[in-house]
Formats: sequence, structure tokens, C-alpha cells
Amino acid sequence: QEIARKIAAGEVIERPASVVKELVENALDAGASRVEIDLDKGGKALIRVRDDGQGIPAEDLPLAVERHATSKIGSEADLEAIRTLGFRGEALAAIGSVSHLIITSRPPESPLGARVEVRFGQKSEVVEAGCPQGTVVEVADLFANLPARRRFLKSDRAETTRILETVKALSLAWEGVSFRLKGQGRLLLNLPREDLPDRLGRLLGLGKKDFLPLSLEKEGVKLFGFLSRPEKARHDPRSLYFYVLRRPVKSSLLARALNEATKGFFMSRSYPAGAIFLDLPPERIDVNVHPAKLEVRFRTEGQIFSLLHQAVRQALLEKSR
Ligand code: ADP
Ligand code: MG
Repeated sequence: QEIARKIAAGEVIERPASVVKELVENALDAGASRVEIDLDKGGKALIRVRDDGQGIPAEDLPLAVERHATSKIGSEADLEAIRTLGFRGEALAAIGSVSHLIITSRPPESPLGARVEVRFGQKSEVVEAGCPQGTVVEVADLFANLPARRRFLKSDRAETTRILETVKALSLAWEGVSFRLKGQGRLLLNLPREDLPDRLGRLLGLGKKDFLPLSLEKEGVKLFGFLSRPEKARHDPRSLYFYVLRRPVKSSLLARALNEATKGFFMSRSYPAGAIFLDLPPERIDVNVHPAKLEVRFRTEGQIFSLLHQAVRQALLEKSR
């Protein structure tokens, strides 16, 4: 059973960036307006995520680190609708089984905070602890009990880069939240609360005027976003971010539709940058590959392809008029 749990943890938590993703998503779910992340040794020695969200009441702290305990699902129907995107109450339990996890939290209405620790699966008692409003989650010595997985991690710098990418991607969907990331002894990201074009510009090294707005709605699917003008194209194909239901996703279908639509507008070896958001009823997608990888599949592929294609064409043609 111990082994089964470790394997299950490995499914969700593959590397430091997966921990950061889970912790930052929890902070955002808790309504944080500011998220601060600190790393030591690419997150292998320490990951600390601090938020100013609603906090966890002391009596709920033991539950928060239990498997399948979540405060976010109200009914069976909710579960069906949300499960595909991974609200399954697994992350903290999984992290606690493969690290030394410390959660310190104080809801705004509590005068004092509380703390719980999980050392490689061993949960401590809850103790009182001073804490500003919100939650601090610390993850130390990730995978120290799983040497094979630890060895599979890349250099500190490479893991830091993955974490930076993870936080950037999330930050584009939460432009009203400020983010700060420190690691490798440096300030890696410092984002104030702002609007989406400002945040895109800041992250991609462009100005807010360098983007074309995208907006199209059809048959219950809403597309929204910004794409760099062709003359502002990047030489790195990775500066294009896709979101489904506000979550960063990879999708070869969306990539192909964009490619197709921008053909002839961008010079060869230059790529559009930007962020594209799709909202649609959750039952029309499958996140069937792996919860941490977020490869998404649409049930109505043709429809999604042409929606994106049309939205991008429209924006590009309008601009050249
Ligand atoms: P899930 O996010 O799927 O519910 P997690 O294991 O990530 O599962 O978290 C378990 C529970 O712990 C959450 O449902 C939430 O109630 C609580 N929690 C975790 N992180 C935070 C946070 N930063 N602020 C407030 N509550 C949190
Ligand atoms: Mg979570």
C-alpha cells in the first residue's frame, strides 16, 4: 500500500514544476490576490508558495493533506464536470508522501494561525502558529525517499526554467493576481496586478499595442485572446499559450489550426506569440492523457479547429485593412 501511494504520487507529481503548479492553483482557488514563490536548488531543496487567500481553518488542516479530501466539490454533478481538470483532492496528499510538507495558514477571521506537517507520509499534530492572513506551503527535500525519481530530475537551472514556464503560463490566465518568483538567488518574475495585454507584453517583451485582439463565439464555444501582430512575431514557437476553461493546455489541434490560419502572414521561422482562451461546457472535452500534462482532446474537433481558424483570420485581415 505504501508503494501504491508512492506510485500514485509520482503520477501527479513528476518534478518540482508539478508541485509549483498544484500549489499555485490552490492559492488561486483560495482567491489570492498575491502569490509569492521561492525556490532553493530548482525546487529540489525547497519550494515555498505564499498566498493571501482565504486560508485553511485549523480544524480542516489535517483533512487538507488527506487523499481525496477536497473542499471544492459540492455534489456528484460537480465532480463529473470538474474531474477532467483535476480537482480531485490529491495534490497535497501526494506531495506529503514524497517530501517534507509544511502548511501554515490563517483564515482572515482567525486571530491565530495553525500548522501541520507531513514528513514523507507521516502526518503531525496541528499546532498553533503565527501567520499573516493566507497560506504558506513549504515543500522540502522533494523525492528524498524516491532516489530513482530524484535522479531523473534535471539540473537546478533546468528545473527552475520549467517552474518559471509553469508560473508564466498560469499568470496569463490570472492577470488580476500579482506573482513574484525567486530562485537561483534572483528575482525571476515580478508581475503586478494588471490587464491581459499588459501582462502578455511584460512576459513576452512586447508592448500592449503589439497584439491583435481575438474574439469569437459559436455554438456554445467562446474564444478570446490576443495574438502578436505579424511584424512582432517571435523566433520561438513556445511564446503561444492555449487555455481551456482558464487552465493552460497543450493541444496539437489548436496548434495546427493556428498554423493554418497564420500561413502567409508570418515569415518563415517566425511564430505568433500570444494567449488564446477557450471556454466551453466541460463535457465537451477529455483530459484523457495525464492530469499533469494537460493534453486536452475536444469531442467536436472540427468545430474547434474552424472556430480558432476563423477568429485568427478575422483578426489578421482586419488589421491589414
Ligand atoms: P484540491 O485542490 O483538488 O481540492 P489539494 O490536495 O490540492 O486538493 O488541496 C486540498 C484542500 O486543501 C483544498 O480543497 C483546500 O480546501 C485546501 N487548500 C490547499 N491549499 C490551499 C490554499 N493555498 N489556501 C486555502 N486552502 C487550501
Ligand atoms: Mg489543488
